[in-house]
Amino acid sequence: MTPVSTEAGSIDAHAHALPPADAPLEKTALETYVPLAKPSLIGLSRNEIAEQLGGIGVAAAQRKMRSQQLWHWMYVRGAREFSEMSSISKDMRAELEKHFTVARPEVVAEQISNDGTRKWLLRLPSGTAGEKAHEVECVYIPETDRGTLCVSSQVGCTLTCSFCHTGTQRLVRNLTPGEIVGQIMVARDRLNDWADRDTANGNRLVTNVVMMGMGEPLYNFEAVRDALLIVSDNEGIGISRRRITLSTSGVVPNIKRTGEEIGVMLAISLHAVRDELRNELVPINKKYPLAELLQACRDYPGASNARRITFEYVMLRGVNDSLEDAKLLVKMLKGIHAKINLIPFNPWPGTRYECSDWDQIEKFSEYVFNAGYSSPVRTPRGRDILAACGQLKSETEKLTARERQALRAMAMTD
Ligand code: SAH
Ligand code: SF4
Repeated sequence: MTPVSTEAGSIDAHAHALPPADAPLEKTALETYVPLAKPSLIGLSRNEIAEQLGGIGVAAAQRKMRSQQLWHWMYVRGAREFSEMSSISKDMRAELEKHFTVARPEVVAEQISNDGTRKWLLRLPSGTAGEKAHEVECVYIPETDRGTLCVSSQVGCTLTCSFCHTGTQRLVRNLTPGEIVGQIMVARDRLNDWADRDTANGNRLVTNVVMMGMGEPLYNFEAVRDALLIVSDNEGIGISRRRITLSTSGVVPNIKRTGEEIGVMLAISLHAVRDELRNELVPINKKYPLAELLQACRDYPGASNARRITFEYVMLRGVNDSLEDAKLLVKMLKGIHAKINLIPFNPWPGTRYECSDWDQIEKFSEYVFNAGYSSPVRTPRGRDILAACGQLKSETEKLTARERQALRAMAMTD
């Protein structure tokens, strides 16, 4: 379980000002993990909470009601301490306090981009006492009609897509459901976005969730499923499944399960229309080639004209951005309820790729649009704080000062 951070003082110092251009991501030294004495209830299902209550002697007849109360305080009100839970008796609160916490991942740094994007660096237990703690990043992207939170599913990624920075990170572990739900809770904490929030129109800031941070969500299926069921529960955080998108590089056997067991929107990291090139860009293609991937999309439970599958396509100059590619793309998506999301490549130090020229992106987009597909070009957000797609990489694999400088220089020239 994850450590608590109730002392936000060191973070607040950074909350309203942009960090200096060369500020390191890491604000405090990476510590060795010391396991917590008390587990957090965040990330457990209602039944699991009831079981835990049974374990501390709560009578069977009370467990369901108590777990409902806890659920409300944790996921509607965002309570950070049992002492806030005023509808629960004092004695019960004291008992809960003795055995559990409602801890979220510890926020070790917050950065705010000049476009309003925010990135949080979260510290997680390594799982083994004495090992270094782990870190993941979580990004909030405000837009006029929505606020999207980009959530991580793993520390690092076992896959090695050749254009993705996360794929170069060696250290990998799966996140627990509590660590995945915890990212949404941390964002709501930091943005003051819980039920009692006093806004003029009562609108929520975090309205959408995309599983597009670090990691391959379908290689951590059960934890991602359990977490998303909590996030979409309408007696709790209440973000509808239509506003949650899971992006996969193409783990075919778990695509159907995603539709059946989670029911969220699906995005596929396509990036190439020929197996030969996709084997190189997205190596999982060697295991699950295009024909199988597209069949899984045709069969995706719940896909319809109103619930289209998004095909992500990163624009790499001279690699996959020709009109020939656009034509093949349109041909191959026939019969699938699809929309296309073109992503300008975000560079990182040491990469051999470049972003396509703007002209070429426009031509590509126009062709696809004229063929009847919505094809928005994703505006890169938060590049100055390295928060854009594919730039996330935990500080456990720290960038050197020179790498950081190179990355910022690239961001400035684009
Ligand atoms: N592992 C999952 C989800 C995380 S990546 C997946 O691959 O789908 C989210 C999206 O960003 C994916 O489509 C990924 O291919 C894309 N991406 C990765 N690196 C990128 C980069 N450097 N520039 C632009 N997009 C990138
Ligand atoms: Fe992993 Fe996705 Fe990056 Fe590929 S693009 S290495 S699957 S995070």
